Amino acid sequence: MTANNNASILILPGDGIGPEIVTQAERVLNAVAEREGLTLTLDHALVGGAAIEATGGPLPEDTLAKARAADAILLGAVGGPQWDSLDMAVRPEKGLLGLRSELALFGNLRPAILYPQLASASSLKPEIVSGLDILIVRELTGGIYFGQPRGEFVNDRGEREGFNTYRYNETEIRRIGRVAFEAARKRGKRLCSVDKANVLEVTVLWRNIMKELSAEYPDVELSHMYVDNAAMQLVRAPKQFDVMVTGNMFGDILSDCAAMLTGSIGMLPSASLDADGKGMYEPIHGSAPDIAGKGIANPLATILSVAMMLRYSLGQAAAADAIERAVSDVLDQGLRTADIAATGEAAVSTDAMGDAVVATLTK
Ligand code: NAD
Repeated sequence: MTANNNASILILPGDGIGPEIVTQAERVLNAVAEREGLTLTLDHALVGGAAIEATGGPLPEDTLAKARAADAILLGAVGGPQWDSLDMAVRPEKGLLGLRSELALFGNLRPAILYPQLASASSLKPEIVSGLDILIVRELTGGIYFGQPRGEFVNDRGEREGFNTYRYNETEIRRIGRVAFEAARKRGKRLCSVDKANVLEVTVLWRNIMKELSAEYPDVELSHMYVDNAAMQLVRAPKQFDVMVTGNMFGDILSDCAAMLTGSIGMLPSASLDADGKGMYEPIHGSAPDIAGKGIANPLATILSVAMMLRYSLGQAAAADAIERAVSDVLDQGLRTADIAATGEAAVSTDAMGDAVVATLTK
């Protein structure tokens, strides 16, 4: 990817803790831009519940237009109990789904990183997960979640029967494959494609396309694994993986499993990319209404989402590395928000954590 030194970035704080954590991420973005000599144009817009309150809908036209025009989007989180009784079609989450589908964000990147400093937060033994750094690339807009036909009917025996269709065409497989190979190239250069090719024809095609693509990426080592084994290996020896690529449903399950290996939801970023590398970046957690407004939310997942944005949409690997190093440094300094503090350990506020990352970046 060519480096973009004049990127325009749309910031969507959203609801709950969204505005609190995004404020800190924006400070970090400005600090790294100054350090690396980047000229960024930042714009802001409403999405989710905040947009419902202001405009009546979760994804206003103005927000969508700004999102289309931006090089990348940084999102906090959407949703909250005050909107739970609304009709599904106008709930805050529809704003997010609308952005994903309108912008054709088919490539979901979910890293699972366990900083050695936080190894005790995992439910697995520290030696199995300490230093874990894997990236799951999940196809986000196809597969069985979207396949037609689908539905429920009454069969010949008079009983209700439900069905879905698991299908991928080669264009869909190839484009997510490219995202994964490119990502592997930027990391440890090992890609494991996860399928169920012993049972499902659609994943035989998936496996074949991945093999075809690997000819274009001779520097990336491709391997294949059945999804049942992959689930087992993720909890047995997760550090064997670098990048994993899989379809929508397998990716949904495996990425949640991998995220939980780290035990700290407040630490994990994500990206959703289109075919040109434009992306929406967000923490994997939600709007945490239970702690909103208290100033105690962990901003690091959002700050690490900024690092992903710099790496995957703006071609600014040095700036991304600097943020990731700064996060590791503040953990080394012993700073912990409440969600990652060990029992009895003092916790810092959202702002103090942001201050520490900015200070580390600018020193
Ligand atoms: P959640 O991720 O918001 O919260 C789960 C638990 O983790 C809560 O106890 C929360 O306090 C804690 N937590 C989450 N992020 C944290 C952080 N940064 N620092 C410290 N603690 C943190 O999930 P939920 O409670 O199931 O959902 C709350 C709302 O968020 C719902 O309206 C849901 O629909 C929405 N949601 C939005 C997204 C998104 O915007 N991408 C994703 C998931 C859920």
